[in-house]
Amino acid sequence: MEPTKICLTLSGKTIAENLAVLDRYRPYIDIAELRVDFLESDERLHIREFPRLAGVPCILTIRRQIDGGKFLEGEAARTILFGKALAFQQEDKDAKFEYVDFEEDFHIPSLQDAVHAFGIRIIRSVHDMRNPIHSLRERLDNLKSNEYEIPKIAFMPHSLKDVQRMFETAKVLKDSNHILVAMGPLGVPTRILAPRLKNFLTYTSPAETVENMPELFHLDPLTLKNTYHFSDINDSTELYGITGWPLNATSSPELHNEAYVKKGMNKVYIPFRSENFFDALSFASSLGIKGFSITIPHKETAANTADVVDEKVSAIGASNTFVNRDGRWFAYNTDASGFARSLLEFTGLKNLNHKKVSIIGAGGASRAIAYAVHSLGGKACIFNRTLSKAKELASMYDFEYAILDSSSASLLKKYNDIIIQTTSKGMGSKEASNPDNDPVYFYDFKGKEVLFDIIYHPTVTPVMRRAAECGCRVINGYDMLRYQGYEQFELFTGESMTN
Ligand code: NAP
Repeated sequence: MEPTKICLTLSGKTIAENLAVLDRYRPYIDIAELRVDFLESDERLHIREFPRLAGVPCILTIRRQIDGGKFLEGEAARTILFGKALAFQQEDKDAKFEYVDFEEDFHIPSLQDAVHAFGIRIIRSVHDMRNPIHSLRERLDNLKSNEYEIPKIAFMPHSLKDVQRMFETAKVLKDSNHILVAMGPLGVPTRILAPRLKNFLTYTSPAETVENMPELFHLDPLTLKNTYHFSDINDSTELYGITGWPLNATSSPELHNEAYVKKGMNKVYIPFRSENFFDALSFASSLGIKGFSITIPHKETAANTADVVDEKVSAIGASNTFVNRDGRWFAYNTDASGFARSLLEFTGLKNLNHKKVSIIGAGGASRAIAYAVHSLGGKACIFNRTLSKAKELASMYDFEYAILDSSSASLLKKYNDIIIQTTSKGMGSKEASNPDNDPVYFYDFKGKEVLFDIIYHPTVTPVMRRAAECGCRVINGYDMLRYQGYEQFELFTGESMTN
């Protein structure tokens, strides 16, 4: 079977802009798709020249608005434009479009005859920008009217189940003469694992213009190459990943994939977002994913769903690591040890005996941190927006608890040797500290506290900056992430990540 090609979708306003971008990505791609619908009208006069200037195989696409494009001038104008772009195509492969994208309902016999005569292949596409498409196998068969056509189905999934269906359909397909794409954030696995779908190509966008079509959620070719080592993915590649929702920012794919490559392992680690943990588990089982990381908001559901839980998971009540062994899911928690290692390394302490610790937040990560603080001998008070959750967690370790607002400032002062921030407040915020991004905005740092914020995006959160300005020693969650990742890597592969 032919390896899946990488296609760069060009959505610049001018031919020159597209060519400049193409030059930057040339070493990483096989095909360029010219999205004529994004070009300014004057530029459309010159599209016939594009393949010769591009110097790579090109796809001609003029997408209508209904299919997610920008072409508004109607079908007659579109037909004329196709005609102008394809007329008198030369024998010379480098000077003509090799592919043209015609939608399922676009049948202009004269154009099709010309396309066949010039040896141009048709990508016969169907798009649903809002809903999933069902009966994929039948739709593919119906789309393809002859062997020169490449049927393409692109839809917007509503859940990971729709994406799973796509992979299950692909298992029975015999060749790579089709393109199956799920769009949006849920569809990212279809872009990275396009070889598993036996796709003819996978679409990417330059990082510079990815925002022109945000609904597609294209990756850029460099991410596909550097983070996911796309060209090494084959039928024997073992799959790993991370699930969560919305899973906007995660450094785990870089961490794991880099180690797989260093160690010469044929494995890839991908994000598979899901609002529902059971859909993620079903997706992982169906694709044969061997192990995966779990993040917000699924850690607690995961602990209650596994076939086998280790003792830390039952003590903590949250799992961030699932490993498949002979069809059974084993749950682990590596957050607690990752956190403890990072904290002890940063403070130089051996344990937390005689230390008074504040834990801000009582979510999934906080459960692991409370367990670690208790195991290290610390005395803590848990502060949370929802008091009942703080109370429930505190009762497990005989800790104090309080509501997370200004009425608790004096209690926070009593537990201020180490302040551990575990809420998601401040995540992604670049602004100065304010009540919306700083969970302890009501507390005045003295300068002697250690502040550990387990967030790592941004590297300095608003509360970290405020504490550091008062003279506190501050650390973010990146080392915790690395250390919990190292342990996950060992659980996934049986090997150490760092040796
Ligand atoms: P989670 O289970 O959803 O818990 C979220 C916590 O944040 C809860 O205590 C919640 O309070 C609190 N919270 C959310 N929005 C808030 C707001 N506007 N004001 C006050 N409190 C708010 O999430 P999680 O898994 O514990 O993760 C929390 C954070 O830790 C995330 O940013 C995550 O990226 C980070 N994390 C880092 C690592 C690492 O390795 N460095 C590991 C795990 C997690 P309520 O209970 O009142 O809702």
